[in-house]
Amino acid sequence: MTLLLLVVAHPDDETFGCGSLLMHAAERGARTVVLCATRGEAGEVTDPDLVPTGGLGELREGELRAAAAYLGVADVELLDLVDSGMDGDAAPETLCGAPLEVVVAAVRRAVDRHRPDVVVTLDGGDGHRDHVRIREAVEEALAGSATPLYVEGLPRSLMHAWVQHHAGGDYAAYTELPDIGTPDEQFTTVVETGHLLERRDAAIALHASQKSPFDGLPDDLHRAFLTREHLIRLNPPWAGGPLETELSGLSGP
Ligand SMILES: [Zn+2]
Repeated sequence: MTLLLLVVAHPDDETFGCGSLLMHAAERGARTVVLCATRGEAGEVTDPDLVPTGGLGELREGELRAAAAYLGVADVELLDLVDSGMDGDAAPETLCGAPLEVVVAAVRRAVDRHRPDVVVTLDGGDGHRDHVRIREAVEEALAGSATPLYVEGLPRSLMHAWVQHHAGGDYAAYTELPDIGTPDEQFTTVVETGHLLERRDAAIALHASQKSPFDGLPDDLHRAFLTREHLIRLNPPWAGGPLETELSGLSGP
């Protein structure tokens, strides 16, 4: 059986970032596994009353497991690192504060255990330091490996439309980033997932403690973000040519 391993930094990255890709892979008969580095302890919450005595991490782990189950994910594993937050000092137990080699070794152990046919992580194009860090660790863990590796991102053209929509609103920290999103021409692989849109939205809603970046968008922009998964193939190296419409490693029988 084909196996897709998705490695992310926080609960909700799997759904907000690539929920439709996980469903798509499961539809293709693949087993999907999510490896999540932290429990998203430093995130903001939509409603403080949602947070249980066990803290935000406990709540968000529950949301991760519920959303993953809904997306057909076979297995969820946590690396037990702590969310580094957006800025400030990163404590030694956090994803960004821990030595990179510790994170790399943990990713490598998961790869050795699951022997994935394809590995996906987020490209870090939103500038969140944890997203950048986990991508770095995944790339390092798979260096020299023949396993296909992809990073998923959001096209800059769509992010510019998103920034215009949110100008002056809740997302000031992101909208101040001049290079938000990933230059459209860097994507090598676009997977059509339009038929999964309703289920993607339902999975997003399962992360009830988190404000979805796709909330309240005009319908055309909502669809543009959530009916197509945009990825860059890092391995095997991309040699140019027409874009792929399927992940290497998933394209078996
Ligand atoms: Zn995240």
